[in-house]
Amino acid sequence: MSEAGQRDDPLPLSLINDFLYCQRRAALKVVEGVRGENVHTARGDVVHEHTDLAGYEVVKGVKLLRALPVWSERLGLNGKCDIVEVRAANLKSESSDLRSAAVELRPVEFKAGKRRQWDNDDAQLCAQALCLEEMFQTKIERGAVFHADSRRRREVEFTAELRAATEKAVAGLRALVEEFEISDLRSEIPRLPAAVFRPACEQCSLFEACLPKVTSGPAVVERAAKELFQI
Ligand code: SF4
Repeated sequence: MSEAGQRDDPLPLSLINDFLYCQRRAALKVVEGVRGENVHTARGDVVHEHTDLAGYEVVKGVKLLRALPVWSERLGLNGKCDIVEVRAANLKSESSDLRSAAVELRPVEFKAGKRRQWDNDDAQLCAQALCLEEMFQTKIERGAVFHADSRRRREVEFTAELRAATEKAVAGLRALVEEFEISDLRSEIPRLPAAVFRPACEQCSLFEACLPKVTSGPAVVERAAKELFQI
């Protein structure tokens, strides 16, 4: 951290989602630079094709800012919002100044898949809101996740609990990254969080790199070794 109390190396905001999904997944991305490709990342890429193009449009009186870069010096984060909705805070307001109390900002994150509540998605969205609040000195009450497969929108309220959980995840992610940086300085091989094989692993794009069935515990390793060496 710099003397001014600001983070020197911002973390990618989307890593919060990975960190809450699985700490090992976030670590593999940070240390190994592994992204992994599977049907889920491919679908995600398609879903984001439209929102990755920076620009804006107005739909039913709501201005939609696409691919808006966001950051927070306080949290040491940067990234982008798929969509930021700019709404009039009341019927009489017409201001387009994003800092104005007359406008209401709402981040919207696009996700592949059907409508379903995931804590990691909500935290990623909340982190976007925290960035927007810091950038525009405003208060953001809610945002939304748009689930592309079911074409349904899920409203997310930025409660005190969600804000606290998001900041806790950012701190955890920061600690993980700093641990790797220390290992790097000491020329040590970084220790990744252990794999814990669970149903979510089957959906994970890093399955091949992680090998969770082999690496998730002594009993599993022993069994794998027995199978491999037929002992
Ligand atoms: S395969 Fe499982 S344990 Fe490995 S990174 Fe993915 S979710 Fe984590």
